[in-house]
Amino acid sequence: MPYPREAMGRPSRSSAREESAESRERHAALRASIATEEVEHHVPHADKDCPKCGGREISKVGWGKTSEIYDYIAGRLVKGTHMREVMACSCGEHSVTADGPPRLSIHPVMA
Ligand SMILES: [Zn+2]
Repeated sequence: MPYPREAMGRPSRSSAREESAESRERHAALRASIATEEVEHHVPHADKDCPKCGGREISKVGWGKTSEIYDYIAGRLVKGTHMREVMACSCGEHSVTADGPPRLSIHPVMA
C-alpha cells in the first residue's frame, strides 16, 4: 500500500482486521447469492495444428482455465464464469488456450 493507513483515514490495524473478516463474510454471502452464467470458450479449429511438430495430436488439458467477470445488469449483478479450453500437443512442446471474453485482457480477474 503506497500510503500509511492513518493518512487515508483508515481505522487502526486491529479494528481493520475485524472489519475485514466481517466484510469478507458479507462479500462471500453476496457472491453466493449472485446469479451465475457459465460460458465455454473453445480453441478454434485453426489453432489445433501444433507449430512445433506440425502434428494434430493435440488434446484437452484438464478443465482449461476459468475466469469470473461480474456485470451489473439492469439492477442486478450477474457473474459470468468463463471456461477457456486448454489443449496440448503430445509432443510436449505446444499448448493453446481459447480466447476469453475481450474484457479478460483489459481487466484480468485473479482467482
Ligand atoms: Zn506438437
